Amino acid sequence: MAPIPVSAAPTPRLLPNHSDDNQANRAAAVGAARESDEYAGAPYEKLAPAIVREFSEISTSRFVLRLALEWTYIIGAIWLCQHYWHPALFVATVVWIGARQHALAILMHDAAHYRAAQNRRLNDFLGILASAPLFISLHAYRLEHFAHHRHVNTDDDPQWVDRDTPEWRFPKSRKQLAWLLAGDLLGLGSFETVRYILRMQWRLWTHGAGVVLTALQPVLTIAIVTAVIVTGNLMPFTLYWAVPIATWLTMVLRIRSIAEHFALPRDHVLTETRTVIPTMFETLLIAPMNIAYHIEHHQYPSVPFHRLKRLHKSLMKTAAFRQQAHLTRGYFRVFQECLPDPVNPVTPVR
Ligand SMILES: [Zn+2]
Repeated sequence: MAPIPVSAAPTPRLLPNHSDDNQANRAAAVGAARESDEYAGAPYEKLAPAIVREFSEISTSRFVLRLALEWTYIIGAIWLCQHYWHPALFVATVVWIGARQHALAILMHDAAHYRAAQNRRLNDFLGILASAPLFISLHAYRLEHFAHHRHVNTDDDPQWVDRDTPEWRFPKSRKQLAWLLAGDLLGLGSFETVRYILRMQWRLWTHGAGVVLTALQPVLTIAIVTAVIVTGNLMPFTLYWAVPIATWLTMVLRIRSIAEHFALPRDHVLTETRTVIPTMFETLLIAPMNIAYHIEHHQYPSVPFHRLKRLHKSLMKTAAFRQQAHLTRGYFRVFQECLPDPVNPVTPVR
């Protein structure tokens, strides 16, 4: 097969470095960063622009269908559990709904990168349909997430700075890892989630988003909770929505975050993040919708979720990616890479 063409010249940086001391440039960079998910660091060999454009094509119908499918899965699972009630079935339902909530979060992530629709108003409307039920502001998430993409794993990456705490330091022993995940599964990570949401909301306000945009999600959250109480659905809402968020979703987001940016060599732009090749079980309940192809996403944030696997296969045909990218087969091996004496630090994936 013919090699995938790569552009001769590296893509120029769109914005100045933080080391630039020109104040005007710095101010422009802060403003523009809200609208750019382009990596600000040193570029690496890139695919040809025509190929990236082809991979980056937006499919609104695909986004809407996936959104509808996830809600169908959720409603169907609730109906089944109510109909054939059993404690074991309830546990399975919590896991299933938590995984579907994760799928909604991934749709929110795509909409944050403007991958839901060409029209930005429509894009944000569709994104809010995915994010509002998770009580996260799409706009607050986008602001933080773009800074993360531009300055990944540096002091200008708010996500990286926020995780400068003992629980996010690696390596960890098997026991420490197990306790961390068990705590999340028991709902102990919920406080951290609330703090994360409030911090993003505060950042949106302090970055001049204005009252309407800042108040949008708090108003939607109050509206959802009020509707639940007024219609007498507080108990089912707690069991089938709040419990999956506080348990399975919280644990899965922890696993994903560890896999994406921790316990890595970080000696090259392609080792600042990790791509995991998930098993079928992991695709279903831990990392749906190609979210595990994280290096590919950081290199090409314009590619929507449904083309990330194809993008991975194309990138594997380029020497730079095949030789440098940190690829791990399955999340169990990710945990092994988090140990003081890592097993298979880099798992060859071909
Ligand atoms: Zn992203």
